[in-house]
Amino acid sequence: MATELEELLDFLSSPSPPVKRAAVDIVRGLTGSEDGMQSLAKYSNVLLPKLSHLLDDPKEVAEPAAESLVNLSQNTDIAGLMISMGMVKTAMDHLYKPESAITRLLVMLLVNLTQLDAGISSLLQVEDEKMHGLYVMKLVRSFCRSPNEKQGDPFEHVGSILVNISKMEAGRKFLLDPKRGLLKQIIMQFDSKSSLRKKGVSGTIRNCCFEAENQLPNILLISEFLWPSLLLPVAGNKIYRQEDTSKMPRELGTALSIEREPVTDTEIRVQALEAIYLITLQEAGRRAFWSINGPRILQVGYEDEEDPKVMEAYERVGALVTGNSGEAAKEHAVTSPPVIALQFVIAMVVLDTWQYFMHRYMHHNKFLYRHIHSQHHRLVVPYAFGALYNHPLEGIILDTVGGALSFLVTGMSARTSIFFFSFATIKTVDDHCGLMLPGNLFHIFFRNNSAYHDVHHQLYGSKYNFSQPFFVTWDRILGTYMPYSLEQREGGGFEARPTKEWKDD
Ligand SMILES: [Zn+2]
Ligand SMILES: [Zn+2]
Repeated sequence: MATELEELLDFLSSPSPPVKRAAVDIVRGLTGSEDGMQSLAKYSNVLLPKLSHLLDDPKEVAEPAAESLVNLSQNTDIAGLMISMGMVKTAMDHLYKPESAITRLLVMLLVNLTQLDAGISSLLQVEDEKMHGLYVMKLVRSFCRSPNEKQGDPFEHVGSILVNISKMEAGRKFLLDPKRGLLKQIIMQFDSKSSLRKKGVSGTIRNCCFEAENQLPNILLISEFLWPSLLLPVAGNKIYRQEDTSKMPRELGTALSIEREPVTDTEIRVQALEAIYLITLQEAGRRAFWSINGPRILQVGYEDEEDPKVMEAYERVGALVTGNSGEAAKEHAVTSPPVIALQFVIAMVVLDTWQYFMHRYMHHNKFLYRHIHSQHHRLVVPYAFGALYNHPLEGIILDTVGGALSFLVTGMSARTSIFFFSFATIKTVDDHCGLMLPGNLFHIFFRNNSAYHDVHHQLYGSKYNFSQPFFVTWDRILGTYMPYSLEQREGGGFEARPTKEWKDD
C-alpha cells in the first residue's frame, strides 16, 4: 500500500492544477523542516524529477517547486543527486526562458549546487569542449547588467556562484582568461550598492588571487580596476593628502581625496587584505603594490581599524610588504634590553678606540694639527658650546666616521643609534663644560670627565689625555695618561693641575 508521502508525490503530477498546487505547497512546507527533509530524502529519485518538471508551470506552481528545490539542495547528498540528474542544465535553461518568474530562486539553487565540485564542473561545462564556460559567461553578463527597479535584483546571488566557482582551479583559470575579460567585468560590480554583490566580488577576487603565482600578469593586467576595489575598503576614513595620492593611479587617488562611504562589512575588508597578501607574495606583485603607494594606504587604514580579525590581516600584509627589503623588518624587530646594553658598550669601545688614535695622530702629524685639529685647541679654557667647535674635516673624521663605525660594528638598530649618538654628544658637551658640579652622573660613571679633558686643552697637556669621550684606557695602556689633581681656586671652584712630577718632566 502506498504511504501518505507516495500519494502526495503522485499528486505532484496530477492533471488538476489546484491539486498540483496544493501538493507542491505541502512539499515546500516539508522542505522547511529537518524532519520533513529526512522523510522526503528517501524519495529523492521520484521527487526531484517531478519538481524540476513543475518549473515549467505557471508561477503559482513553479515558485513553490523552485523553493523546494533550493531547500533540498542544502542537503549535500540531495545536491549531489541533483547534479548527476542534470539539474544545473535545467536551472540554466529555465533561467533564460523569457518572462521567467523564478529567476532569483534558480540562481540560489545554483549557489547551493556549486558548493560541490561536481556542481562547479557541471556549470563550467568542462565535459563539453564546445560549450565550455558558456553558462558562466551568461551568468556574468546578467550579473553585470544593472538591476532594474521593478524586478528587484534577481541576479545578485550570482556573486556567490562566482565565489564558489573560483574555489576550483579550473574556475579561476576561466575567470582570469584575459581573452574573455570576465574578472574585469566582475570587479566593476564592486561599485554596486548591494553588499551581497560587493561580497561576491571581493570573494571572487580573493579566490582568483590564489593563481597569483602562475597568473600574476593576468591579474595585474586589470590593476586599474583591481587596486581600487581592493584598497578602497581598507583605506580607512581619512581624506588623503596630495603627497600621498600623487603616485597612485588616478581613479584610486581621486577616490581617496574625497569623503567616502566606509565599507562596514568586515568580511569584505579581510578578503581584500587576503587578496593583497596573495599578490604581494610575489616579487612582481610587491613591486606593483609599492609603485602605487599601497603600503601608505594600509598604514592609514590600519590606524582606523578596530576589528581584531581585520587588524591581523593588515599585519600579515604589512609584515610581508615591508619584510621584503629585510632591513625594514629588522627595524621593527624588538631587540632585547641586554643586547641593546651590549651594543652600547661595544659602540663605546669602538668610538673610543677610533677617536684615541685619530686624535693622537692629529697631534703627531704637524700638518694635520696645524690645518685641522688646532682649531679645536683654540679653546684653552673649554666651555660647553666649544665641545664640537672644530674643523669640518675633524667633524667628519673623528665624529662622523667614528659614529658610523660603532653603528656598523654593533649592528644596532636606527632607534638604538638615536640614543647612542645623543648620549655620546651629551657626554662630549659635558666634557667641555668646564664645571665639576656635584652629583654629575657622568663624573660618577666615567673617569674621563671635564677635568680630564681640561688637562688636554691646557698647553702642557697637549701630548696627554687623548682619550675621548668615554674611557681613559688607551691613555693608560700607551702611557699618555697624565694624572692631575683638583685644587680649590681662590674665587671658588676647582682647577685641574697635573701632579708635580709630570709637570717637571
Ligand atoms: Zn687634541
Ligand atoms: Zn676638547
